[in-house]
Amino acid sequence: MPNHSQTHLDPRSPLVLDTRELPRRPGAMRTVRRVVPAPADLGLELIRVPDGADLTLDLRMESVSEGVLVSGTASAPTAGECGRCLRPISDSVVVPIQELYAYEHSTTDETTDEDEVGRLQGDLVDLEPALRDAVVLALPVTPLCRDDCPGLCPECGVHWDELPAGHSHEQVDPRWAALTQLHQKEE
Ligand SMILES: [Zn+2]
Ligand SMILES: [Zn+2]
Repeated sequence: MPNHSQTHLDPRSPLVLDTRELPRRPGAMRTVRRVVPAPADLGLELIRVPDGADLTLDLRMESVSEGVLVSGTASAPTAGECGRCLRPISDSVVVPIQELYAYEHSTTDETTDEDEVGRLQGDLVDLEPALRDAVVLALPVTPLCRDDCPGLCPECGVHWDELPAGHSHEQVDPRWAALTQLHQKEE
């Protein structure tokens, strides 16, 4: 018997799909549409799906010879901060999902690693790992508040939008500063 290291799945968990209603006959199909609360830490450091936000699953479960193919989309709002100016961003993301879950003891089960192909656990599918991978792939590593965000002045940290044109921090040579002071004393 292959060594199944999975933990026991809870069929009531929002990201667990139940395939009991799906006949194990290639071509049989069921749709799954549900809105579930997003799990914690779904996304990247700078942008993510807020914990508990509405995550809309629009999926199709299809029997194939070796298991169940789950495909469709997951969509959710996102929140984060601009990678250039740190302003808050709110957006949304639609991610494609396509994942094969092999039947236990199928040829695929016996001949592939679990990180290559998912596994059915009894009649249950754990969608969460595929969902996490898809969301991470879909989100930008450096999210921007707008495409041409100019970021912050590196000297004073103020957004370039709020600074006058030609804003700069002139480097005053300390020797010139001393001369200026001398002039002021003479006047
Ligand atoms: Zn920005
Ligand atoms: Zn500045």
